[in-house]
Amino acid sequence: MTPKEAKKEILDLGVREYTLEIEEGWLPLVAGLFREMKKINPKWDGSKVAQVKQKFAGLRVYFEDAFITPEEEVLLTLAEFEAAQTCELCGQPGTRGQRTKSWMMVCCAACFSSGK
Ligand SMILES: [Zn+2]
Repeated sequence: MTPKEAKKEILDLGVREYTLEIEEGWLPLVAGLFREMKKINPKWDGSKVAQVKQKFAGLRVYFEDAFITPEEEVLLTLAEFEAAQTCELCGQPGTRGQRTKSWMMVCCAACFSSGK
């Protein structure tokens, strides 16, 4: 799945575009996360997603409604785990690293050296 297809799927699930504050490398795994959430709860509505962001190199997903079910919690934990090993820029396997003095993120060797 390309980042573009992933983004379309995310938006089709009702997620508002401005809530996506991540680079495109993580979009496929976020699409997978929301797809699974919808699968376990057909009434799941993407409009309850408040923010998808990167913090201290980790994926963070916030919902309008603070309550999430134990099943959703498991899916979220799996997605966070996957993100921790996925380059946020290109989606290739990556490791957590510090690219600049202030900016920690998960990045692959190619993106790291390209300084993107
Ligand atoms: Zn990369």
